[in-house]
Amino acid sequence: MLLRAADEAELLQGMCSVIVEQGGYRMSCVAYAQQDEQKSISLAAFSLATPHDPAAEKALRNPHAGWGHDELGRSATGVAIRTGEPCVGRNLLTDPNHAPWRNWAVRFGYASVSAFPLSIDRQVIGALVISASEPDAFDEAEVRLLGELADDLAYGIGNLRMRLKHRQAEATIHLMAYSDALTGLPNRAALHDQLKAALAVAVERNRPLALLLISLDHLKEINDTLGYAQGDRLLQAFASRLAGAARPAETVARVGEAEFALLLPQTDADHAMQTAQRLVGLLHGPIEVDGLEFDVHTHTGIALFPGHGAEPDLLLRRARVAMFDATRAGRDHAIFTPNLDHESARRLALMGDLRRAIDQNELVLYCQPKLHLASAEIRGAEALLRWHHPTQGVVPTGEFVKLAEQVGLITPLTTWVLEAAFQQRYAWHAAGFEQPLSVNLSAHDLRDPTLLDKLKGLFATWGAQPDWIQFELTESALMDDPAAAIHILGCLKQLGIVLFIDDFGIGYSSLGYLHRLPVDALKIDQSFVIPVAQSMESAAIVGSAVELGHKLGLEVVAEGVETHAAWQRVTELGCDVAQGFYVGTPMPAEQFKAWVAASPWLGAVLAPH
Ligand code: C2E
Ligand code: MG
Ligand code: MG
Repeated sequence: MLLRAADEAELLQGMCSVIVEQGGYRMSCVAYAQQDEQKSISLAAFSLATPHDPAAEKALRNPHAGWGHDELGRSATGVAIRTGEPCVGRNLLTDPNHAPWRNWAVRFGYASVSAFPLSIDRQVIGALVISASEPDAFDEAEVRLLGELADDLAYGIGNLRMRLKHRQAEATIHLMAYSDALTGLPNRAALHDQLKAALAVAVERNRPLALLLISLDHLKEINDTLGYAQGDRLLQAFASRLAGAARPAETVARVGEAEFALLLPQTDADHAMQTAQRLVGLLHGPIEVDGLEFDVHTHTGIALFPGHGAEPDLLLRRARVAMFDATRAGRDHAIFTPNLDHESARRLALMGDLRRAIDQNELVLYCQPKLHLASAEIRGAEALLRWHHPTQGVVPTGEFVKLAEQVGLITPLTTWVLEAAFQQRYAWHAAGFEQPLSVNLSAHDLRDPTLLDKLKGLFATWGAQPDWIQFELTESALMDDPAAAIHILGCLKQLGIVLFIDDFGIGYSSLGYLHRLPVDALKIDQSFVIPVAQSMESAAIVGSAVELGHKLGLEVVAEGVETHAAWQRVTELGCDVAQGFYVGTPMPAEQFKAWVAASPWLGAVLAPH
């Protein structure tokens, strides 16, 4: 029995039957001790020598016995459970402890009873109870045997319970491995398996299938602004909206932080596009979370078997490429197009790497000096980000900044830069070196509602003065949403921070707005400054920009001064400050202080080097 039983009920029942049928007893049962207040006893299994005796069964099922210290606990069963020792050979007809049960003992023909405790890990869980029709039925050898039997039974129960626990743990682990804890949807591993199975069917039946990858926009901003709890609830609400939109044969899965997949069996390109279109109608629109309404927007990428691949990973990758194409093009959905693959794959890989770079400090803060032309004094530096990629080397800054803007990584990137800049600026201050450090902000940063609080936090943390840090905003970022820009610049100005318009001249700013922007300086774009010594037109543009800037009361910086001739020309044209390779190339920020100390510019008005 011990070896064969598949579960606890089968084991108990088998044991009771063997005891009655082969041991010749009148009744055998297993009673479990309940850990309730009354210390009651419950019947787990029994066997009677007189089978099909409903009255006897009923009496057994309602024993009115317990294992406490009261009258109901005095039965052999109660004593065995309470003491953990066998209670052997009680005479049911004469023993006063059994008075409450004497009537039914007489009625059903029980004259004596023995109870053996069942212990698992030294805890008594119940008793094996055996009744005989004779008053002195249990001799010494028999008791020893029955005691061993009870121990074996307890061991068997423990074993089965352990096995059950393991099975439950395995089931939980399996569930965890294949489903997403937050949304309850299948996860990436589950999708992979289902996609594989669906592909096998598709191959066999010569049918196409489609994989849709859907990204939920702005999750990052919601997480950053309102906190992860709200972001999580938005994800849950979106997941159930998506699951509701799917048809029975379709599989929905969550495959990334804000990425969901929809597997459409037997679906061609046409049908996939229709589904994507239908989803736009079903998924877009506000979702309410904690009383706030979030406008949900998605981008969907589509990849098809067999046209775009026959492997789960490849299809997923290509659906993701299509999803980014859709995002970049500002379209709701896009089908994978092979020729974009190489470039997209590189950008995709870079994007994944960038996330890691931010987390793992692969980024380095560089800075480039600015020279005040009239006094030949160094007027601070511009903070420039550098990314030393472990395999690709230095990634061009403009490229990865743009990428970060496109894929919603600019906020963590800017946060990194700000923290690094404040830390560096504090180090200068501690060393008695007071030069402003200007940080580039992007259009996205201006829309980040947490920016001001973050800045205030940094000022407080480092005990920073307003003149420690400056900001540069490109003209095009400001023109993105001029009214909002005026507002946020106003807030930054209130903190007493000096503000620059960067890349001036290529952002088509309207003069009407320019004079309303609370900025302190213009940086003329390098495309005009680099050729300024050779090109009359460039010189004319630089000259006009200087004039305009000065009329508006702004300082004018020439960016991209690469040569002595350009330096001379911008000085003549009235620029106040110069920045460029000729003045000094970008260097690791911690070298800047030493560079200034050894600067070739000290006292070198109009006659450097
Ligand atoms: P930017 O703000 O206009 O920065 C000036 C860029 O011109 C820098 O490129 C600098 O290395 C380069 N440069 C400096 N002097 C010369 C010169 O004489 N000739 C030429 N041809 N180039 C010169 P970099 O560091 O590659 O940065 C490119 C752009 O990336 C920056 O343009 C800025 O818009 C953005 N960027 C850099 N760091 C950050 C950052 O921390 N946050 C944000 N949001 N953007 C950043
Ligand atoms: Mg700049
Ligand atoms: Mg610039």
